[in-house]
Amino acid sequence: MSFASLGLSEEIVRAVSERGYTEPTPIQAQAIPVILQGGDLMGGAQTGTGKTAGFTLPLLQRLMSKPVAGKAHIRALVLTPTRELAAQVEESVREYGKYLPLKSMMMFGGVNINPQIKQLHGRVDILVATPGRLLDHLQQKTVDLSHVEILVLDEADRMLDMGFIRDIKRVLAVLPKQRQNLLFSATFSDEIKLLADGLLNNPALIEV
Ligand code: AMP
Repeated sequence: MSFASLGLSEEIVRAVSERGYTEPTPIQAQAIPVILQGGDLMGGAQTGTGKTAGFTLPLLQRLMSKPVAGKAHIRALVLTPTRELAAQVEESVREYGKYLPLKSMMMFGGVNINPQIKQLHGRVDILVATPGRLLDHLQQKTVDLSHVEILVLDEADRMLDMGFIRDIKRVLAVLPKQRQNLLFSATFSDEIKLLADGLLNNPALIEV
């Protein structure tokens, strides 16, 4: 199976082959078609399975298939438990999207907020953030999430373990109701299932 046969555009396939990938991993083969069709997804996957490209590639393509005229807004939001993961995901977004006219930004706590505020004044299509700092921006009204079309919770179990559930719920409350939701977790505790029940509409379940 090839990336092109999954329905990814030439620009994305080119970036992926330059990265050296020859064929999709099992989670990519399963997740990419679901996400391209606009469905919600619950993915059970550890790191190392290729899950990052599994959601990043179709996310980029979804955004490209519905270009927006006029002012740019944040259209995709990826929440991660740690700054390291945020940096890693945002790097993947930039690399896989290098032939696309989309801009990404990463945001996490423990650093000065002012450069982030400045960056938010420019164009940001895809925001990769940790929940705490994102909430700070929401409270200061320095970020606008009212145009988010796709939400990804990456390593959701770790976010819950780290006590981010209240922050996540506050973020969810300001997102548009109509959106695509993708949740990835290595484990499926009752707490994760509860979160998924409240968040996902008729999700495809993928476990690798
Ligand atoms: P992840 O599970 O997203 O953290 O990815 C684990 C590692 O697998 C990363 O180093 C990726 O660059 C690599 N990877 C992701 N997809 C593929 C693929 N289709 N073929 C080969 N390597 C891949």
